[in-house]
Amino acid sequence: MTNYNIKSGDVLSPRSILIWRVVQTLIWIIGAGILFYLIFFPKIGIHLFWNILIPIAPALLVVGVGLWRNVCPMGTTSLLPRHLNFSKRKKLSVSQTSQLNFIAVIALFVIVPLRHVIFDQSGLATAILIISMGLIAIVLGLFYEWKSAWCSGLCPIHPVEKLYGLNNKLPLPNAHCYQCFRCVTPCPDSTPGINPYSAKKTNYHKLSGFLMVAAFPGFIWGWFQAPDYNGITNFAQLVPIYLYPIIGALVTSALYLILNRFFKVKFLTALFSSAAVSCYYWFRIPALVGYGVFPGDGMLYDLTNILPEWSTILIVSLTTVFFFWWILIRKNYKLSWMKRPNYA
Ligand code: SF4
Repeated sequence: MTNYNIKSGDVLSPRSILIWRVVQTLIWIIGAGILFYLIFFPKIGIHLFWNILIPIAPALLVVGVGLWRNVCPMGTTSLLPRHLNFSKRKKLSVSQTSQLNFIAVIALFVIVPLRHVIFDQSGLATAILIISMGLIAIVLGLFYEWKSAWCSGLCPIHPVEKLYGLNNKLPLPNAHCYQCFRCVTPCPDSTPGINPYSAKKTNYHKLSGFLMVAAFPGFIWGWFQAPDYNGITNFAQLVPIYLYPIIGALVTSALYLILNRFFKVKFLTALFSSAAVSCYYWFRIPALVGYGVFPGDGMLYDLTNILPEWSTILIVSLTTVFFFWWILIRKNYKLSWMKRPNYA
């Protein structure tokens, strides 16, 4: 029988394993369903993916990153070869992992602005993006041990997990790795207090950490300053969709470098993490109900006739207070996202 451990000596019961498998399967089916809608009913699919799932994701990474890592459908897809014993289980060096992490950060910064001209309007393009990432994830899972190459390597969401999940409260059992093969160092799932600066062995690590902590909050602000376009009709449209995020990233990077002279990196990391996720919801929640910077862009349902604008300001003020409290003010428990399984 597979030996799942939640802490040394405690074996995850077959019933718990079964429950995790059922939840993973259900979430995977929901993911496949969204993909189906994106291809065949793009209007609904776009709402389901970009206006429901993606807006929930940052908050989930803040309060339950371990839960997400256990049930993420892309992760489940990537780990299928390992679960079924098809994986060649190769190991990546620290340097290779750092290069994958760096590519993931660059992919995040390149792909997200393209939402304005491609993905926010095209269900098919979004589906192709997801399927392409799924294929890469499964190929990496075929060759490399557990989560090393995709979930903790090339996945473009992983840098965001490390930024937002830095003050985790509830370490869950690892519902994928039944034993730890030390496939990635430091393991994001099992290392207490993991954050974008936890790995510093290579320049790729350092640059990835800096881009996520210092540049990402401004990048998010800039993203919301560009409108959606109905497809690319000319390359001039690429200027605003990248220009605003780049300006924002440069401003917060400069601010970070100044503050770095007076404050500790740990404090600044938590401060900028809180600012990034708060900024996201500051713009995203009003946009969902029709009060966005560009009304109609990213709107889930028009509530402007029912909901006064001040109520959305109240909601985003509360979410801002919550995120600063959760990430920055609350005691830092330095807990890992998951409990490390016994070493193999
Ligand atoms: S728990 Fe161990 S085997 Fe699983 S991803 Fe982390 S280092 Fe790899």
